[in-house]
Amino acid sequence: MSTIELKNICKVYDGGVKAVDNFSMKIENGEFIVFVGPSGCGKSTTLRMIAGLEEITSGELIIDDAYMNDTEPKNRNLAMVFQNYALYPFLTVYENIAFGLKLRKIPKEEIREKVHYAAQMLDIEDLLERKPKALSGGQRQRVALGRALVREANAYLLDEPLSNLDAKLRGAMRVEIVNLYKALNKTFIYVTHDQVEAMTMGTRIVVLNKGVIQQIDTPVNLYDYPVNKFVAGFIGTPQMNLLNAKLCNIEKKHFLKFEFNYELELSNTECIKEAYLEVEECPICFGIRSEDISICDDKQGTEVQVQFIEMLGSETLLYVNTLSNQQLIIKTSQRLNYSGGERIHITFNMNRAHLFDCETEYTIKK
Ligand code: ADP
Repeated sequence: MSTIELKNICKVYDGGVKAVDNFSMKIENGEFIVFVGPSGCGKSTTLRMIAGLEEITSGELIIDDAYMNDTEPKNRNLAMVFQNYALYPFLTVYENIAFGLKLRKIPKEEIREKVHYAAQMLDIEDLLERKPKALSGGQRQRVALGRALVREANAYLLDEPLSNLDAKLRGAMRVEIVNLYKALNKTFIYVTHDQVEAMTMGTRIVVLNKGVIQQIDTPVNLYDYPVNKFVAGFIGTPQMNLLNAKLCNIEKKHFLKFEFNYELELSNTECIKEAYLEVEECPICFGIRSEDISICDDKQGTEVQVQFIEMLGSETLLYVNTLSNQQLIIKTSQRLNYSGGERIHITFNMNRAHLFDCETEYTIKK
């Protein structure tokens, strides 16, 4: 059992860099939590504070109802896996995995059982006598995971464990780590800058930017209901299309007016906060995902010009420019024969559209 609670945690490094600002969340036992965000947003610092490798400037870290700020890392019962594997080059795979157990004076026979159990789970039993330099990147990462596994910790903390691997191996290891998580039934906290990793692995995701939590939610909710422009733009590939527009109230009817001479009446305004509906005109940012734009016949929608297309096999990405020269990306499963330069018409699936306040960048939906 292990619940991990962070209460108003801040980290200010020497020199005044505020790396983490007022981080609060409660992680329940058995969750797979992913911290995701661009490089430098404070993910590693937060993880290292949980592990005890970095001092907490202010706030409280509570693990299983106990105050942990000042507890030594080795007494927190957490296992950590690093990006650079941190293996001992002169020790064999077996000795690397067994190292921490030996230090804790665990009987030899028990160590042997644990190492073989971990090696079996990670499919590295054949490699136990090798040294790290005779292993591939993926195999080294497995050894690093094995070393964490034998700890039988309450929670596993993983800091970008796959970022040194190539794309194909990353995909395979992603699945393995999720399988490991399911088999162990323990809390995992996983740091990555890769939103695909976050979306495919996490039961809940924490999106961070500049040290501040933007949103904590399930992968599907982050995708469907991003609370602000940052999350909308960060989660999902290709990036959500974002356009400036005006929300206009004309005789109690509401319209979206785009810069490219296109007007749309909003038929469903119930989900929009009243304050935005009451004013005559308010600038907003309109967001629409590439799969929520459709190509239509010439009499409907708005005109755009095809710039280029990317055939990805199962789907096609179509890059188009609006009449005011803003680029949009459209994703479709149709096979298209455009060569560039064509003028086509598109419509937006308004049920899936997002509206953000231009200043605060937060959603104007309820
Ligand atoms: P991430 O893991 O999201 O890439 P980090 O947690 O490593 O981000 O860093 C967050 C911020 O803190 C960055 O601006 C980084 O430069 C700064 N930082 C990290 N470690 C130190 C340190 N030891 N001393 C000073 N600043 C640091």
